[in-house]
Amino acid sequence: MIWSLLWRWLLILVVFAGGTVLAFGGNFWMGVSLHIFLVGYLLSGTLNPSSRLFGKVRTRCGSGIWLTLDDGPDPDDTPMVLDLLDRYGAKATFFVIGQKAEKYPDLIREIHRRGHQLGNHSWSHPRAFFWCLGPIRTYREIVKCQRTIERITGAAPTVFRAPVGHYNVFVHPVLKREKLELIGWSSRGFDGVGADFESVRERIRASANDGSIVLAHEATPIAGKVVTDILDLAQERGWTCSIPAHGSLQ
Ligand SMILES: [Zn+2]
Repeated sequence: MIWSLLWRWLLILVVFAGGTVLAFGGNFWMGVSLHIFLVGYLLSGTLNPSSRLFGKVRTRCGSGIWLTLDDGPDPDDTPMVLDLLDRYGAKATFFVIGQKAEKYPDLIREIHRRGHQLGNHSWSHPRAFFWCLGPIRTYREIVKCQRTIERITGAAPTVFRAPVGHYNVFVHPVLKREKLELIGWSSRGFDGVGADFESVRERIRASANDGSIVLAHEATPIAGKVVTDILDLAQERGWTCSIPAHGSLQ
């Protein structure tokens, strides 16, 4: 992993240096083009959370829907969501934030005890700058969350979702070392950014279909309504709501 991170870092430096030398050495536009290419490459995992330029990302789940819940655990929402899932006979993946997991270990144990999956959603959820973290901070964000969940439940997560879905060129070597899959989504309602319930409901119902990975959030004022509506939708359409087997990337 160290070498994989190092060569990526070196490649960025070499391309940047090459572009600068060209720009100031008489080939201005060629140098600028090289810089634009580099920026476009580095931003591909940020501008497009489904981009596979840096490595695999899973965006479909086979059959039924895969309900994924980000940003917990939450002392108000997690117990309520767990009861809802039980009532519908559904299973979900909770992509939890390491700092919150450490603060609420009992909620993590309860998610695990009820047969749901725990996913890694970074240690501190740096939503504004995860995309531009260097290799060391990227490594710490992923591994510290991984160890925290493993310490609480006895099992290391096998799935990772980047904060806001924005990932960078250094993420995949760390995921490979930790045996983690990068998980995206194919349906969401923007409930994590303050959208009202009706528009969240409309967006999810318009985008979800058989095989969708559905993204919703805990720690929002409408978490219960959103999860209930997703479970109702699955029931109406005859879709199972379960956790797919690890490993078969789509
Ligand atoms: Zn998040």
